[in-house]
Amino acid sequence: MSLPRVTVWNEFRHEKKNPEVAAIYPDGMHETIARFLRAEGFPARTATLDEPEHGLSEAVLAETDVLIWWGHMAHDDVLDAIAERVQQRVWAGMGLIVLHSGHYSKPFRRLMGTSGNLQWREAGEKERLWVVAPGHPITAGLGEYFEIPHVEMYGEPFDVPQPDELVFVSWFQGGEVFRSGCCWRRGRGRVFYFRPGHETFPIYHQPEVQRVLANAARWAAPVPGPAIGIANRKEPLEPIP
Ligand code: ZN
Repeated sequence: MSLPRVTVWNEFRHEKKNPEVAAIYPDGMHETIARFLRAEGFPARTATLDEPEHGLSEAVLAETDVLIWWGHMAHDDVLDAIAERVQQRVWAGMGLIVLHSGHYSKPFRRLMGTSGNLQWREAGEKERLWVVAPGHPITAGLGEYFEIPHVEMYGEPFDVPQPDELVFVSWFQGGEVFRSGCCWRRGRGRVFYFRPGHETFPIYHQPEVQRVLANAARWAAPVPGPAIGIANRKEPLEPIP
């Protein structure tokens, strides 16, 4: 079976402004992510905020099965029309993987209908991600848990709708917990929120994180079948006496 076509979207601002981030991701986070997906066999392209239409033209999205979204400092610079376009594509079946600060992105908040608010702390503490859905396709190849040595903490309460499936729960050294891997369906599309990814730590270089993203890209692929349309079904399938 052929792998879904992935577009990795990154606002790509931190890498240009902060040498510490550029040292970790010399070609941008999007390239790091696209590279390991390509190594897994995914056809993966990239798109960034400062390209025309943020790199997400109708044509690009039409050829995208799964969109990965990383944004942080420039959520407000994303045009409403593009956020709307992403939402429509998800409703039509495109998968969406929202990373880290993308909990505040326009497409995610539109699709969830909630604020996406959470607690945070930047102390470089340890995170332990517990697999709470063993056997779920997104956790394939992982053990009971994995750890990321230095992260920005996100804590509950996380203002999102109850996930359809909860895949990871994180524990942080400072004491907080967080629902760090959440699955939803919106229309015909699948949405996965995955928490790790603060830009000043080499998180997308970590093999377990790469494993999760590759698994999630497979999981989020569109499922074949009829579109959700609207119709006045004047003619019943069976006679109605
Ligand atoms: Zn962050």
